[in-house]
Amino acid sequence: PSAMREVILEVPKVSWKDIGGQQEVKMQLMEAVEWPQKHQDAFENIGTSPPTGVLLFGPPGCSKTLLARAVASEAKLNFLAVKGPELYSKWVGESEKAVKSLFAKARANAPSIIFFDEIDGLANIRGKENDGVSVGDRVMSQLLVELDGLKKRVNVTVIAATNRPDKIDTALLRPGRFDRLVYVGPPNEEDRTEIFRIHLSKMTCSSDVCIEELACLSEGCTGADISLICREAAMAAIEENIDASEVRMEHLRSAIEQVQPSDVDSYEELT
Ligand code: ATP
Repeated sequence: PSAMREVILEVPKVSWKDIGGQQEVKMQLMEAVEWPQKHQDAFENIGTSPPTGVLLFGPPGCSKTLLARAVASEAKLNFLAVKGPELYSKWVGESEKAVKSLFAKARANAPSIIFFDEIDGLANIRGKENDGVSVGDRVMSQLLVELDGLKKRVNVTVIAATNRPDKIDTALLRPGRFDRLVYVGPPNEEDRTEIFRIHLSKMTCSSDVCIEELACLSEGCTGADISLICREAAMAAIEENIDASEVRMEHLRSAIEQVQPSDVDSYEELT
């Protein structure tokens, strides 16, 4: 039995334009991921090494996964995604093997990115006993060994994401590991305008749709909330007229009323 399902290798098709707002984060990702892979000599010439790993943190639904996929896509890097808890197997030895083969696969397909979603999930399984051995601890040590191995000139970048930076094993945050921390926050009104525009541009909309008003009405909503609002509005439009459906302002207004904003304010209290 394998410790985890085969990790799928892909070059994602997400462009920076598909993500509303997050200008600063996009810049930071280009600097930390694209530049080191494309301009290794520049870093060597000036006598510094680029950051090894990037940790994206922030409330759910604010585009961490989307950003990781976009940087891979924009820089034309292969992309391997795993969720933290997937690295755990109850079979002795299998979990370490899974971590090892993940990094081997990334090196074999370099230039590449390994994306660890829910990296805090690794801390939860730390200390969990199995046949007297702590599987979580062994996964963590293997992961640290692999991360430290990336310091040598290899074209593999690691990006991790978490909603709970406070729950991350601090060993992961030491220099040479996930040493670049980037906050991915909720959208402001201008960002929400962009996000509505991105999602509605894929739909047939009536000319009465006012995106600026939608951005104003959706205070407190995340990108994921806005995506849901647009989908709900489209469903309502279809229900109304299945043959010639178009999304009108009233569909969007009532979808905003139905969708509970993610209340990202509580995020700061949590962490
Ligand atoms: P989680 O922590 O829950 O995994 P996340 O921060 O990784 O969340 P994503 O999975 O990237 O968030 O976002 C979920 C969906 O919400 C995206 O697939 C996209 O449809 C939409 N979305 C979120 N933020 C944006 C944005 N800034 N622009 C456009 N769409 C967005």
